[in-house]
Amino acid sequence: METDTIAAISTPIGEGAIAIVRLTGEEAIPIVNRLFDGKSLEEVASHTINYGKIVEPKEKEVIEEVMVNVMRAPKTFTKEDVVEINCHGGLASVNRLLELVLANGARLAEPGEFTKRAFLNGRIDLSQAEAVMDLIRAKTDKAMNIALKQLDGKLSKQVSQLRHQLIETVAHVEVNIDYPEYDDVEEMSHQLLKEKTKYVYQEVERLLSMAKQGKILREGIATAIIGRPNVGKSSLLNALVQETKAIVTDIPGTTRDVIEEYVNIRGIPLRLVDTAGIRETEDIVEKIGVERSREALKQSDLILLVLNNGEELTEEDRQLFEAVKGLEYIVIVNKTDLPQKLNLEEVKQLAGDQKVITTTLIEDEGIDKLEEAIADTFFMGDIETGDMSYVSNVRHIQLLQQTLQALDDARNAIEADMPIDLVQIDVTRAWELLGEIIGDTVQDSLIDQLFSQFCLGK
Ligand code: GDP
Repeated sequence: METDTIAAISTPIGEGAIAIVRLTGEEAIPIVNRLFDGKSLEEVASHTINYGKIVEPKEKEVIEEVMVNVMRAPKTFTKEDVVEINCHGGLASVNRLLELVLANGARLAEPGEFTKRAFLNGRIDLSQAEAVMDLIRAKTDKAMNIALKQLDGKLSKQVSQLRHQLIETVAHVEVNIDYPEYDDVEEMSHQLLKEKTKYVYQEVERLLSMAKQGKILREGIATAIIGRPNVGKSSLLNALVQETKAIVTDIPGTTRDVIEEYVNIRGIPLRLVDTAGIRETEDIVEKIGVERSREALKQSDLILLVLNNGEELTEEDRQLFEAVKGLEYIVIVNKTDLPQKLNLEEVKQLAGDQKVITTTLIEDEGIDKLEEAIADTFFMGDIETGDMSYVSNVRHIQLLQQTLQALDDARNAIEADMPIDLVQIDVTRAWELLGEIIGDTVQDSLIDQLFSQFCLGK
């Protein structure tokens, strides 16, 4: 168990009514107590909040008026002593407070180190730790629900249960091999392995199919709006934004430091790709050609192709259809208030299986149909987060896919009548891979890397 005491600012950097400096570790209480003018924090009851002042020990200068939460181990987030100093929000004062705490014996926490301690001290498992991270980043209520469920340990329980099935089967087969009292041991073992691997395979497949939806909920549907000039792309964007009170989010992280725009459609976040560049995509095909446009558009999960009902289909429109062929798109026939010149039959033919909807964006009409179409396309209607535990984490998805592969190898080995112990190797590998999801069999380096993705102070 790590014992040194770490500290960090746990609230977002910036102006706020309140900011929190948090400490965890053996010295957390004594360190703050040395700076605290109020009741002795070493004597107050656990899980109490205490009013007082923070005083710089040498100059005796009052730094801040604060409320201090004292939470003693083990009933804390990290299972260690935790102290939270609530001070007036404001970058300067909270920084000053942190500096003071650091100067008096605490070490600055690495990103995610609080959660890492919770994990290392056995308070939560790895998938729960990752859920904490998801929670911080959740864009919509639904995404948040999923993260909460994961935090609750739903995924862990399911994975543990599957692992249990596998290890039980392995044990069972071992026993059969050790005590071959029956002639048909070999056949029985084959049968047992076959049934169990099939069951676990199906369950993992189910988790994976939910993962796809989870990923969308978490990261948003990357959506591009394309169409010729003046068909109504900006109007569509505005309508979506108005309808859903778009949130403009600055996503912290290493890979994306651009501002992206999110709108929320029935709980599904649409991530509007390159909204600033919408005007440029007007002649995307003309500029870079069908093939290269396709490549660019492939980055999106969904393309909204806007047409003008008041005009005949042009060559450019047809090229756009060409560019989105095979991708997920919805055709929006806008300006239905104008006399129809567009050949709707031809449009439907070009769209094939993809949905075609009509709108009059100038009157804000048709957005509901678009929402329905989007919900239909990605979630076959309404999204049901009810009792499902989504897997929304890339690492989990990869591990589940590898598990499927291992189980597939096992099944093939069974089919090919391979010796039982060879089959067992594959089954055991599946068991190990599932273990990595909950952190049973992960290496330290992975753990370090995972926790480093957290926000500071979490
Ligand atoms: P963009 O160039 O594709 O972004 O198109 P805009 O959204 O800027 O719209 C071009 C023009 O079409 C604007 O004058 C809009 O007011 C108008 N417009 C948008 N939607 C409709 C509609 O449903 N009916 C009619 N008659 N005009 C519309």
